[in-house]
Amino acid sequence: MTAFWTEPDFDDHEMVHVVRDRASGLTAIIAVHSAHLGPGAGGTRFWHYPDPKDGLRDALRLSRGMSYKNAMAGLPMGGGKAVILADEERTKTPEMLAAFGDAVEGLGGRYVTAEDVGISEADMVAVSKRTAHVSGLPVAGDGSAGGDPGPFTSYGIYLGIKAAVQHRLKTDDMTGVHVAVQGTGSVGGGVARLLAKDGARLTLADIHADGVKALAEKLGAEVVAPDAILTTQCDVLSPNALGAILDDKTIAALNTKIVAGGANNQLARAGHGGVLFDRGILYAPDYVINAGGIISVATEYLARRDGKQASVGDVNALIEKIPARLAQIWQASEADGTSPDVVADRMAQELIGRS
Ligand code: NAD
Repeated sequence: MTAFWTEPDFDDHEMVHVVRDRASGLTAIIAVHSAHLGPGAGGTRFWHYPDPKDGLRDALRLSRGMSYKNAMAGLPMGGGKAVILADEERTKTPEMLAAFGDAVEGLGGRYVTAEDVGISEADMVAVSKRTAHVSGLPVAGDGSAGGDPGPFTSYGIYLGIKAAVQHRLKTDDMTGVHVAVQGTGSVGGGVARLLAKDGARLTLADIHADGVKALAEKLGAEVVAPDAILTTQCDVLSPNALGAILDDKTIAALNTKIVAGGANNQLARAGHGGVLFDRGILYAPDYVINAGGIISVATEYLARRDGKQASVGDVNALIEKIPARLAQIWQASEADGTSPDVVADRMAQELIGRS
């Protein structure tokens, strides 16, 4: 077997911890890419990988992404990610979650976990019975920070879209600005609701036809088929569904001035940021604009760790810094003719001491 540090996704990760608990059947990989700014923070993914090597690759790739995201969000947190290797039936037991919690606790706070694909809030509550290094726990609804990160992610994207409109269309007024939203789930639905309040013109698409129709009726929006949203003529395309949607073919067919949305890893490969740039389309790097959720999760954790309680207002104050960060990226991009995704990566690398 090849050593994992020869994997193409290995990027001088500071820690890769393999957990095997025979009694519960747990197999997990916990990766911390960089702890330069603080403990490695990032969610736990529960997924069946027919080849376990793909689980390792996900842990390596996603923890590196979290280093960049947390750094650019101005958080005192490094980048981490855990992957629980599920069986084909995705059997998840309380014993498995307890063993995972013990493993996280055993790392003494070097890794802080939260929800990701396949892991619910209830699962995190179970994990929190065994470790303090956990976030994304339910809140009482009393204005304290925490809970579902989706609305916080939406808020950051909404502010980021307004910043992009200001930068490219030179207006603060969203009335009649046409935004095409791909995916109207937790994040995209929230973005659409916030934009509707500002009088933006909305076109929505989702593979859940009934849900998107009901939302469109409520907001006075148009609906198009999922395969038509990327070519819709609009001012802003906001991808909030899947990753890897921007490739040579789709970018050539885009009919927008701006791409600004929350989906992770929108660029099919790194060079596609340059293709967008060459087409004159303003791109908001995904991990910068979609940081609202991790800002909430980290603020909740840091306050609890220090015996304090953070408020929604504290979280929002940090999210409201996203537009300035985007503007800084776009200005640098235009000044030296480099695409915004490359500028963002460079800024992040500098912040984590890896430039
Ligand atoms: P979600 O599951 O609530 O919503 C995703 C929506 O996309 C669903 O309604 C789904 O039907 C729709 N969809 C799937 N395929 C589609 C297609 N081909 N065309 C149109 N719609 C399609 O998930 P979410 O939490 O809203 O996350 C959306 C994206 O944002 C994901 O890429 C996620 O990784 C990213 N993200 C989410 C958060 C968060 O806080 N939830 C934070 C950062 C990034």
